[in-house]
Amino acid sequence: MSARIIDGKAIAARVRAEVAREVEVFTQRAGRPPGLATVLVGEDPASAVYVGGKQRACLEVGMVPFDRRLGAEASFQEVAEELHSLNADEAVSGVLLQLPVPERLDGGALTATINPDKDVDGLTPVNAGLLSLGRPGLRPCTPLGVMELLADTGVPLEGAEAVVVGRSNLFGKPMAQLLLAENATVTVCHSRTRDLRAECARADVLIAAVGRPRLIEGDFVKPGAVVIDVGMNRLTPEQAGNTSGLVGDVNFEGVSEIASAITPVPGGVGPMTIALLLRNTLHAARLQVRIEA
Ligand code: NAP
Repeated sequence: MSARIIDGKAIAARVRAEVAREVEVFTQRAGRPPGLATVLVGEDPASAVYVGGKQRACLEVGMVPFDRRLGAEASFQEVAEELHSLNADEAVSGVLLQLPVPERLDGGALTATINPDKDVDGLTPVNAGLLSLGRPGLRPCTPLGVMELLADTGVPLEGAEAVVVGRSNLFGKPMAQLLLAENATVTVCHSRTRDLRAECARADVLIAAVGRPRLIEGDFVKPGAVVIDVGMNRLTPEQAGNTSGLVGDVNFEGVSEIASAITPVPGGVGPMTIALLLRNTLHAARLQVRIEA
């Protein structure tokens, strides 16, 4: 079997176009556009690239970006004060602290100071709790993006065996909760899982977010399964066998012979994260001015 390639770029472009249309309507009704603030601490080049991408994406859909940068030596108090001032700023609908922050700062504790109504990354304890309770709230962008990709494949989630490899707060746990909310039977695997291959081989929907290049091989996959590769691992172009040097957690060559649908890396999950961040920002803006969709 040769799997259908799930085109994350095209699906993300569709979401962004839809958000742009809705931002126009929102701006007319609210009298101002939604605003998204990013806070970057330190000079990590990869984080600076991510923040730049988010700022540009904001402008493209008619939102106002707020770009706040603090030096690597900034104290916890200084970062918290920046977040507080953004919480209090009416022009800012969404606030995002770019992670990871320098090691001596507690990124989780700083994230927790973001107003939950502006927490467009869905990572505050309040939003994590609301998700776990099945109540409305802002959800993390990458798992939301995966739900969009799954919807595009048409795979029925109700009663399906879904296996998530990885249990991070950022991805694995919220992913499992979103699948559960759609009535999938969810298994979450991690580094202590006894027989990863056997767990994965039961999956109708297999989602890998591990950070280990090509961990998931063809014999981990049930024929016809839908496979979503969240991993983004940087290798040399020679090791990766492509010019970007980027590979996922799934061995694409082998698995695409067995799965019914699969995301490529790059061009699968990656583009969805920013698209869903924009949608979350619009959602937050509506909540704050009480405008229905
Ligand atoms: P993380 O916090 O490092 O979590 C990795 C998870 O994988 C942990 O739960 C870990 O288990 C588990 N794990 C590690 N080795 C394993 C093994 N050999 N077998 C089974 N499980 C194993 O990473 P993350 O933030 O969730 O990200 C995971 C990957 O997704 C990374 O490549 C990251 O770059 C990518 N990512 C991409 C996007 C995007 O927008 N495309 C967004 C988020 C993440 P323990 O809990 O037991 O340690």
